[in-house]
Amino acid sequence: MSSLRLHSIDLLATMTGAEIGDGALLVRDGWIEKIGTTSEITDAADESVDLSGHVVLPGLVNTHQHLWQSLARAVPAAQDAALVDWLMALFPLWEKLTPDGVRTAGRLGAAGLALSGCTTVADHHYVWPNGIRMDDLVDGVAPVGVRAHLTRGGMSVGASQGGLAADVLTEREDAIVDATERAVSAFHDPEAGAMMRIAAGPPSVLSTSAELMRELGALAREHGIGLHTHLAETAGESERCVAAVGAPALPYLESLGWSGEHVWFAHAVHLAPDEIRSLAGSGTGVAHCPTSNMRLGSGIAPLGEFLREGVRVGLGVDGAASNDSTDMFAEVRQAMLLARVMAGMKGMGGIRHGSAGHRLLTARQMLRLATAGGAEVLSRDDIGTLAPGKAADIVAVDLDRLRFAGQHDPLAALVLCGTAHVDQSWVHGRRVVEDGRLRTVDVDELTAEHRARSAELTA
Ligand SMILES: [Zn+2]
Repeated sequence: MSSLRLHSIDLLATMTGAEIGDGALLVRDGWIEKIGTTSEITDAADESVDLSGHVVLPGLVNTHQHLWQSLARAVPAAQDAALVDWLMALFPLWEKLTPDGVRTAGRLGAAGLALSGCTTVADHHYVWPNGIRMDDLVDGVAPVGVRAHLTRGGMSVGASQGGLAADVLTEREDAIVDATERAVSAFHDPEAGAMMRIAAGPPSVLSTSAELMRELGALAREHGIGLHTHLAETAGESERCVAAVGAPALPYLESLGWSGEHVWFAHAVHLAPDEIRSLAGSGTGVAHCPTSNMRLGSGIAPLGEFLREGVRVGLGVDGAASNDSTDMFAEVRQAMLLARVMAGMKGMGGIRHGSAGHRLLTARQMLRLATAGGAEVLSRDDIGTLAPGKAADIVAVDLDRLRFAGQHDPLAALVLCGTAHVDQSWVHGRRVVEDGRLRTVDVDELTAEHRARSAELTA
């Protein structure tokens, strides 16, 4: 039994609607037992932490990432390329990826996310050359101490069959299914409080056959795991899908069993209104990745329409080859700003410039997407909010910083002023960030190792 009391918190935002001044939390064995004000929660605890001057909120949930891509940041040939050319520029580097590279990139990517307030990351891994296995990614991520949902993806349609990737990056379809089942039996924890879960999903509808997509859909239901892929990221991708299979990607995937609360799609930029309603109706989730969409010139996902129609939405940082930061709080800010750009462009929300009374999407709405929203997208009811019975995934930001000076609303300031990193974080009650530094891994050593692994991709 271990207990932790956090107290004297300037503002405790539970993301259930409550914002508590002079707040306090009692955590026992990784679970929140009590929440209230400092004067209400006076229990003795093994460890007591004074968080005066801090805002506290649930740890952020990143619903879409490719951790290995931290080895390929700011690659010249991919810097100014849109999606297809970007992929073609990067595939030759990824062909050289090794088990050590995946391990190191997984650890460094998760470390960067943890420093930016992320306590749960959903990683989408779909390249397995040179003997890479899911074990390598697990070995990389686990020591950082964040929760991980690892998608075992895979491509079966290579260049020789009209696909984009070289054949060396593809696998046989039965091998993809076998590796997914093996990852589930080795690493998937279905219990509440799970630190590791496995999901299934190729990178896109055109990278595998319809038979494999159907088989993975059935496999996900059989094992009770998540199902994930990129969807309608660019207009060109949507056109290629119609040409190849005779239907837009979403109805095609739905016909193969890809819908429901265990399914979540990254991007969903180019969807028709009836497709958005279909997502809402089936409870299928979206990982909204605004920075990546801007970086690759993919378009603007209709976030306001998702929210109006009741689609489950979380935020995704996406891989560091298309972001190129690995910064979860930055994504919250980008999501808010991009939604406001779209409001101005389309008159969304009734905006008519020169008239009064518009409401734009708020900082609080974006923080909700990044916490409770992400938890819903990953089908988790044990994280994403702070309440008795929830896992103690908690982040704290010190307001006594130059960037926050003059703020009049501490919670909104985290988004409006921008939060470079969190000062403290706990995952399941275990300290991950302390005074702005990672407590779980040696960042200097990791960065040096990562530099060497990154150089291997262009050697
Ligand atoms: Zn992605």
